[in-house]
Amino acid sequence: MVDTVDRSLIADAFGRPLRNLRLSVTDRCNLRCQYCMPEEEYVWLSREDLLTFEEIRELVDMFSELGVDKVRLTGGEPLLRKGLPTLVSMLADNPRLHDLAMTTNGILLTEHAQALYDAGLHRVTISLDTLRPERFKRLTRRDAHLKVLQGIQAVEQVGFTGLKLDTVVIRGTNEDELVDLIEYGKRVEAEVRFIEYMDVGGATQWSMDKVVSRADILAHLEHHYGTISPIRELSSAPAERFRLPDGTAFGIIASTTTPFCRTCDRSRLTADGMWYLCLYAQKGIDLRTPLRAGASRDDIRALIASTWQRRYDRGAEQRQELRFRGVLVQIEGLREDPHLEMHTRGG
Ligand code: SAM
Repeated sequence: MVDTVDRSLIADAFGRPLRNLRLSVTDRCNLRCQYCMPEEEYVWLSREDLLTFEEIRELVDMFSELGVDKVRLTGGEPLLRKGLPTLVSMLADNPRLHDLAMTTNGILLTEHAQALYDAGLHRVTISLDTLRPERFKRLTRRDAHLKVLQGIQAVEQVGFTGLKLDTVVIRGTNEDELVDLIEYGKRVEAEVRFIEYMDVGGATQWSMDKVVSRADILAHLEHHYGTISPIRELSSAPAERFRLPDGTAFGIIASTTTPFCRTCDRSRLTADGMWYLCLYAQKGIDLRTPLRAGASRDDIRALIASTWQRRYDRGAEQRQELRFRGVLVQIEGLREDPHLEMHTRGG
């Protein structure tokens, strides 16, 4: 019985705790980033399958009873989900959640930053791959760079602290902007995190030669700034953090060349209630069907707990072990099951 299980004992087959839930609230996005949604057409989740806010709250409650204390709202673009601040306030009421964050492309933040802050959102991470409007347009197929920069300002103005800026670094696209982005981060008091280009579902233009590795990023920054020191901390966060000689901190998420499966406590719930134990997992666990069929809380918690206890996923390490590494899922596979898309399961 789940009720007799100590929260701290919900660990997977490798002893990794169930702690960190990424909650995709929509598969829709208002950008078409080359590295995530490069196609013209997509197969969308059906609307009637989308979890309501009440259903999301119920599932998050159950997850939190089993040890989840960090939730990150994501998507797709989470701010496309109507009434998101209402969901935020429902989740913020859960005392077990110590960290309630959101990852957004920032386009709609100017409109929503105040409501999100008032609703109790703790932290915001904004994706920003370039400081050049023309490049942004080429990369995302949308002319919205100014809106993103305004969104970044709005976050600070309404009172959020701890802003992070996430940059996917792609060779031939933006690897010449590492220093500019760090300098911009200093100006807006945000910590920049460079993400290695990943071969996730949806990245149909991925190839290893476009990956700018952690080592390349560090060498480039060290050449410009001088000695970089690692920040030593005990954390299961994906970013490894470093400090420049002037004290500025930044992070690198090196899932492609230096995977961190060993400490991964993250799982992902899609907007239609499919639960994925790994970003690379091909199959998920359907939590919507039992929830809508009226299964008891104990039964659903037991399903979550027993599934987690059998988890042995280490997708990024397995990708790294491949002799030939190409696109993870071809376009036909993505059309057959849109849950394989990064924008569906939430990056
Ligand atoms: N729309 C929101 C945003 O732009 O932040 C949230 C969803 S987006 C899928 C979440 C994160 O995944 C973003 O920081 C994005 O840059 C990252 N991402 C998407 N595809 C990626 C890839 N192929 N490699 C590395 N990061 C990727």
